[in-house]
Amino acid sequence: MSHKTGLVWHELYMWHNTGKYAGVMPPGLQVQPYEHSEHPETKRRFKNLLDVSGLTEQLVAIRPRPATEAEILMLHEPDHLDRMKALNETGGEAGIGTPMGVGSYDIALLAAGGVIELVDALLDQRVDNGYALVRPPGHHAIANMGMGFCIFCNGAIAGLHAMNHRGLERIAYVDWDVHHGNGTEAAFWEDPRALTISIHQQNLFPLHSGGMDKRGAGAGEGFNLNIPLPPGSGYGAYEAAFDRLVVPALEAFAPELIIIPSGFDAGIHDSLGRQLMHSRGYRELTAKLMSTADRVCGGRLMMCHEGGYDASTVPYMGLAVLEELSGIKTDIDDPLLEVFEQIGGQDLQPHQDAVIKQAESLLDVLRT
Ligand code: ZN
Repeated sequence: MSHKTGLVWHELYMWHNTGKYAGVMPPGLQVQPYEHSEHPETKRRFKNLLDVSGLTEQLVAIRPRPATEAEILMLHEPDHLDRMKALNETGGEAGIGTPMGVGSYDIALLAAGGVIELVDALLDQRVDNGYALVRPPGHHAIANMGMGFCIFCNGAIAGLHAMNHRGLERIAYVDWDVHHGNGTEAAFWEDPRALTISIHQQNLFPLHSGGMDKRGAGAGEGFNLNIPLPPGSGYGAYEAAFDRLVVPALEAFAPELIIIPSGFDAGIHDSLGRQLMHSRGYRELTAKLMSTADRVCGGRLMMCHEGGYDASTVPYMGLAVLEELSGIKTDIDDPLLEVFEQIGGQDLQPHQDAVIKQAESLLDVLRT
């Protein structure tokens, strides 16, 4: 079955200039300048493959607008907004390892506003689901600072828009980026209206963040679910985590909208993660989320782009997800999928199973 799938995109997203870092290291006399890890090519090539495959023209184009200051201030502190705005003319640092170029503040507003526009398109039934291919990413940014290449927490701001201005009472996040979605977690830490699930590589980034014992606080206690998978987890571990944790948690919470902060840095060739995921894995996780969304919230599901740093393989993972969302299979096949599927360690391993088993007890509070 094909769907009306929205795609948020703007060329200016690619103009956010992260400069001459060497990966995540600031350049200096002991660090030869190179490209920043969060450079535009990964996302540009993702969009290029959508174009070449013929899929883009079958999606519903959603033109982003800048988020307003009031929208940013639903989550972020005025000081943070003012600091970011002041750097718009010069560039600077939004937070540790988070460089901004000239105009990056304006582009960050366009990223947050793009995700908000997708929420509105979904709630107004102009689309059935959608993907916001925005940049800079958002899920590490917290109230008073940017971090981890993120300036504003795009997905969380859009969720607050859905609840504060569009009347939704309950939303859920499933963050499958390989890094912990600490910004989204922090945004709803004491807020029982949002179930925040993050499935990430154990203790990767931010360090000492994303532990299973972090459950939320106050009225929000029990509505934050961290699934820290061991490094080396393949599709078997992801499949088990979705079947045994993510899907039951969504069914118990019954959100009215599901937002997926979507990073492809759990991909097997990624430079900033050590997991083994591949395009079929992301395709099948998308299918699981879509059938869950069909059961709990009339299929209302959307994704906003986060990480993913291997420019040669990210486009195939992205295309697989967009094919699944839209129900349209293009003629383009992932040339490396067969190799990646056969690589050792793709099946669920006992030490990964043990982590998932431990997390199963965290679902009890959602079932009461
Ligand atoms: Zn990431």
